[in-house]
Amino acid sequence: METESLREKFAALGHSAADAPEDADLVVVNTCSVTEKADRDCVAFLRRTAAANPKAAIAVTGCLATLEPAKILAAAPGATLFTNKEKENIPAQLCGTAAPGDFFSVTRSHGKARAFMIVQDGCNLKCAYCLVNLARSELRSKPLEAAVAEVKKLVAAGFAEVVLCGTRLGIYNCKRTGATLAGLMARLTSLEGNFRLRFSSIESEELTPELLKVLKAAGPKFCGYFHLPLQAGSDRVLNAMGRLYDTARYKAKVEELRHIFPGVGIYADIIAGYPTETEEDFERALEFVRDCALSGLHVFSFSARPGTRAAALRALPQRTVAARSAALRALDGELRAAYAASMLGKETTVLALKNKEGRALALASNFVNVEFCGPLKPGTLLRCRVTAARAGSCLAEVL
Ligand code: SF4
Repeated sequence: METESLREKFAALGHSAADAPEDADLVVVNTCSVTEKADRDCVAFLRRTAAANPKAAIAVTGCLATLEPAKILAAAPGATLFTNKEKENIPAQLCGTAAPGDFFSVTRSHGKARAFMIVQDGCNLKCAYCLVNLARSELRSKPLEAAVAEVKKLVAAGFAEVVLCGTRLGIYNCKRTGATLAGLMARLTSLEGNFRLRFSSIESEELTPELLKVLKAAGPKFCGYFHLPLQAGSDRVLNAMGRLYDTARYKAKVEELRHIFPGVGIYADIIAGYPTETEEDFERALEFVRDCALSGLHVFSFSARPGTRAAALRALPQRTVAARSAALRALDGELRAAYAASMLGKETTVLALKNKEGRALALASNFVNVEFCGPLKPGTLLRCRVTAARAGSCLAEVL
């Protein structure tokens, strides 16, 4: 998303993307710092790139560059650093032009059948394990009219699915009109065309009655899919993390969504091995996730992020974190298989993504992968019936 937007801005200034960092005159690296592994990967990439192409200029931005510039400069001493705030203007700055910020707008999505549009940036919560609030504390939202214009352009360019993204999508707020996410979705879902919208991820507490009413009224224009960060399945750990909800509230939201959107896909992020998570907390979490019958999990192994409250806590032994991650990943497999099996014989709408070895791969509205015998035109929306289900994906026939 951000990278796609930067790519388009460089292209508008007359530059084209190189095939590999070794061939580039300029390498722009958008770093991530969500886990220790992400830090290591970014630093290793910078070292490799600086060594393989010493003549290239290197510009580094993103969370790691914002929070730990020294780490970047140790890996790539000649790099020019840009904070998250400066990111959007990197092309203009490096090319010596002036360009107003357009909130990472895009007109396409390089090599993908789906388009990703950023509408919100920043978070003002202080979850104990998270450094997003340190790296992106300023809250910003894309103006309503700009978001509407961007979706129109993407749909006109042939994108039949647009994913709305934000650090905390649920607090979208257009400064000029005062529109909330409900207002934005009311406008976007009333646009003409054969397309659908999806949320990347949204806090369960931010699914307000007003927003749910708009999403329900949108019908097939809104995907039956929610990714609701859970992070822990015991109240004691949720409280220690400083999350907005307890398990009862989270479960009530899951039930409300299932009532409003029958068959909806509900997925969650969960952290394995938070420092204060006891064996009992973890067992409770497994039970809670099963009880919610979520459609799938995105499992993160806890890693301490410098500057966060959790970093000051005594970490659990690595083998405990690894064992809990493995147990949650196994549970994820079970959940995905059960959810795919629940689709057997049902009709659904899919977006054809790509063809591989004579088969088409597609994505259902509820985020289940669907395969077809025979190719389909990538980027098209199709009605189909599920004829078989296997580990987390389905086979289907076009109707
Ligand atoms: S709500 Fe999300 S982005 Fe904000 S501090 Fe918590 S985990 Fe980080």
